[in-house]
Amino acid sequence: MDIVNKEKRSEMMSGIRSQNTKPEILIRKGLFKSGYRYRINNSKIYGKPDIVLKKYNAAIFIHGCFWHGHIGCKNFKIPKSNTKFWIDKIDRNRKRDAEVLNFLHATGWRICIIWECAIRGKSQLKNIEKTIRKISRWLKSDRVWLEVLNNSPIMIHI
Ligand SMILES: [Zn+2]
Repeated sequence: MDIVNKEKRSEMMSGIRSQNTKPEILIRKGLFKSGYRYRINNSKIYGKPDIVLKKYNAAIFIHGCFWHGHIGCKNFKIPKSNTKFWIDKIDRNRKRDAEVLNFLHATGWRICIIWECAIRGKSQLKNIEKTIRKISRWLKSDRVWLEVLNNSPIMIHI
């Protein structure tokens, strides 16, 4: 039991720290298969978007629902212990995200946020396929924003 817990814990920790979280890899692979070419974690672009498609002027972020504080999402619950610590931490992350998105938007980027709740779950592969289709439609459109969450896209046209 202890070993399982340790593995799970380190898996969680690497998910937090690593730039290659699983949903991100799946999204990348899906985009590649659909013929899109991109750069990943491009540090020359403010906020280092997870995926950048220069041809489409598009920056894609894949957000973990907990760390990025996905309000209203069942995957975002503040832990019952160290509550203040977590509230402060998630709050900082949200402020940072807002700053990055505002900057990118102001400098002419189109922005897509994919929340992990759109992908995770029993039918992960289907969810990935759906998400790739949504991204593809968005890339070919003239819409500035795309947010994908729990299988229902919200498109805001600015
Ligand atoms: Zn979520």
